[in-house]
Amino acid sequence: MGTRLRKLKLVYSKKKLSDGKTIGGKGRLTDSLIDKLAHYYGNAIQCNSTSVKEMRKAIWAVWGHSCSTDDEPMHWFCPTNPNTWCKYNAAINNNLQNYKHKPSVPKAFRDVIKPVFADLFHPALLKKCLGGKTQNPNESLNSLIFGSFVLRRLVLVFRLQRLLQI
Ligand SMILES: [Zn+2]
Repeated sequence: MGTRLRKLKLVYSKKKLSDGKTIGGKGRLTDSLIDKLAHYYGNAIQCNSTSVKEMRKAIWAVWGHSCSTDDEPMHWFCPTNPNTWCKYNAAINNNLQNYKHKPSVPKAFRDVIKPVFADLFHPALLKKCLGGKTQNPNESLNSLIFGSFVLRRLVLVFRLQRLLQI
């Protein structure tokens, strides 16, 4: 995710986006925002390592949450439980009038970075990150290698690191 977004930033460095500004600079696609999105993406996979469907939902939540504004809240897939990380959903049960979105991903490059999310949202890719995948008992070597929970977690972290390099 991080590498893909950095490449995209390079490709668009001289081009003007729909709002007449370039992709980089203050309040735009900064390295800090790229790191943040890559981190959230990694968390979305790691915290849902037993279900591709839940991974996809969590990745879409990262997208919608990061692009949300006061005029256009997009928290459809953010968790709604009492301990949710989504302050907007938490505020719904509390005091939404006082909630103000922090500056998010500007609208002009939402569509520019969306294909990166779409590529890394593909079920075939996410299936490789399934940590709780049940092994075929006939595959004794695999059962032996991947049998322990700790090893499965290590494999997941390794796959996740590779995925974040894409
Ligand atoms: Zn949210």
